[in-house]
Amino acid sequence: MATKYIFVTGGVVSGLGKGITAASLGRLLKTRGLKVASQKLDPYINVDPGTMSPLQHGEVFVTDDGTETDLDLGHYERFIDENLNKYSNLTTGKVYWNVLNKERQGAYLGQTVQIIPHITNEIKSYIYNLAKSTEADVVITEIGGTTGDIESQPFLEAIRQVGIEQGPENCCYIHVVLVPYISGSDEYKSKPAQHSCKELQGMGIAPNVIVLRADGPVGSDIKRKISMFCNVRPDCVIENLTMPSLYECPLMLDAAGLTNVVVRQLHLTTPPTDLTEWKELISRIATRSRTCTIALVGKYVKLHDAYLSVMESLYHAGFETESKVNIKWVDSETLLDQDRCAEELAEVDGIILPGGFGDRGIEGMIQAAQYAREQHIPYFGICLGMQIMVMEYARNVLGYADANSSEFTPDGAHNVIALMPDQQGNIPKGGTMRLGKYPCTIKPDTTMARCYGKQEIDERHRHRYEFNNDYRAEFEEKGLTIAGTSPDGRLVEAVELTERPFHVGVQFHPEFKSRPNRAHPLFKGFVAAALQYQTEHTPTSHEVMMDQ
Ligand code: GLN
Repeated sequence: MATKYIFVTGGVVSGLGKGITAASLGRLLKTRGLKVASQKLDPYINVDPGTMSPLQHGEVFVTDDGTETDLDLGHYERFIDENLNKYSNLTTGKVYWNVLNKERQGAYLGQTVQIIPHITNEIKSYIYNLAKSTEADVVITEIGGTTGDIESQPFLEAIRQVGIEQGPENCCYIHVVLVPYISGSDEYKSKPAQHSCKELQGMGIAPNVIVLRADGPVGSDIKRKISMFCNVRPDCVIENLTMPSLYECPLMLDAAGLTNVVVRQLHLTTPPTDLTEWKELISRIATRSRTCTIALVGKYVKLHDAYLSVMESLYHAGFETESKVNIKWVDSETLLDQDRCAEELAEVDGIILPGGFGDRGIEGMIQAAQYAREQHIPYFGICLGMQIMVMEYARNVLGYADANSSEFTPDGAHNVIALMPDQQGNIPKGGTMRLGKYPCTIKPDTTMARCYGKQEIDERHRHRYEFNNDYRAEFEEKGLTIAGTSPDGRLVEAVELTERPFHVGVQFHPEFKSRPNRAHPLFKGFVAAALQYQTEHTPTSHEVMMDQ
C-alpha cells in the first residue's frame, strides 16, 4: 500500500489545539489497524527548541534517539503511543542549516540555491524520510503557526507539492480553525474561518476537512456556511469542542465523524475504530474517588507548559491510583528558608522537583529538598531535581556546607555534581548534552526495583552534569543509596533513601515515557506514596473532635 499523507494546518490564531487534533486522529487511525507516524514542522528559525527558554516555548520534549523537539511531540507520543525519531521535528532553522551545509560542500553542483526547489525539497525529504524510517501506513504532519504567516510559506508550498507528487487519493489536508463566539449577539462567527481557508486555497492547497475549534456546538447553519464558502463537503466540517480532559478528544472527534471522512478521502479500507481501551481510560478518569496534592517546585512555574510532560505524568499516575492529582505550583525563588517551606509545603502530600538549567531559584529548591527529607514527605527529583537532592544531602548530612554543582560554582571546593572528566572544556550551548535513550541497571531491593519490577531499564536523558563519583562512597556510608547506574557502573542514574516509601532522584526524564493508559512506574510509585502519606497524616474524626 502506498503511504498516505495527512497534513494539519491551523488558521485564525495559534494555540488552537492543532497538535491535539493531529494526535487524536493518529490514535484513531491506529485503532483501525494502521501504522501511524507523526511529525511537526515548525516555522521558527531556531535549529531546534533546545536553546529556547521554557518560559517562552514550554518544555523541550526529547525522543529516544536524542532529538530535542517541540512539546506537541509529547502529545503525539502520549496519544499515539509510537516512539518518534529525528525526522519528527523540523524547523526553518534546521532546513536552512542543512541546505547551507550542502551548499558549502558543493552538493548543488553550482546551481543557484533557491527556496523552490532546494528549501522545499529539504522539507519534503523529512516528510518522506519519516515515512521510510518508520514504514508507516499513514504519516501525519502538523504545520506549526498560522496560515498567512510569512515564515510558514515554504512549508505550505512543500506540502502542496507532496499532494501533486502523491496524488489526491493519498493526501488529506485538514485545516483547523477557530470559530469565535460573540457574546453580545450570542452567535458563532464563520468569517475568520472563511478568510483563513481562502488564504490556504490561494497557496494552492484545498483543504479536504475543516475542523472547527469552538467552546460549544456552533450549530448547523455555521457548518453549512463553512462547507459552502470553503468548498468542503458538508460531512467534512467537523466540530472540535473544548473537553474537560484532553484525553476525551479522540472519542469526541471520532463521534463527529473525523476518522470516517479521513479514511474515505485516503481510499483506505479499514475495520471500524476500536475505542474499547480508550473508553476504559476515560471512565477511569471520570470515576476517581481520591484527591492528592503534589507541590511542583521549579523556576518556570509561571508557564505550566514548561513542565507539560511532568504534569501529564502525574495525572496518568492519578488515573491508575484512582486519584485526582492537584498540582500546587511553587516558585522556588520564594522558598527562602525552612519557615517559608513550612508555609508553602505543609499541606502537600508529595514534592516533585523537575528539570531545569541555570542558577536562579536553586537555593530555594535545596530548601524544598531539605524540607521533604526532614519532614518525611515523599520526594521525587528529576534530573536537576536529583542533582538538588544530592547537593542537599551533601550539605546537611555529609556536612559540606558549600556543596554545589559545577554548573553553578565551576570552581567550588565540593562540587558533588560535576562534568565528567571527558567533558571538561568550553562547550557550546546547542546539542552538547547527554541526550536520548540510555540503559540503566537497577540495584535490587530498592524503591527503584520495586517500582520498575525489573533490573534493566532505559530512559531518556537531557543534561550536561553528572553525579561526582569522588563522593560516591561517602554518600553511601551516610545512607544515600545508589539505586541505578549505567550498566558499566560508571554513571550514577538514580539515588534514593531506600527505607522511605518514596524518596527518589533520577538523572533521566521518566516523564517522556508515561502514557495515559500506562502510567510511568516511578510516577505511579510516587503518587501512591503521596496517597499513603495523606492517609497517615489526615487527622481521624476522633482527633478532630479532641482538637475542638
Ligand atoms: N542543568 C542540569 C544539567 O545540565 C540539569 C538538566 C535538567 O534538569 N534537564 O545537568
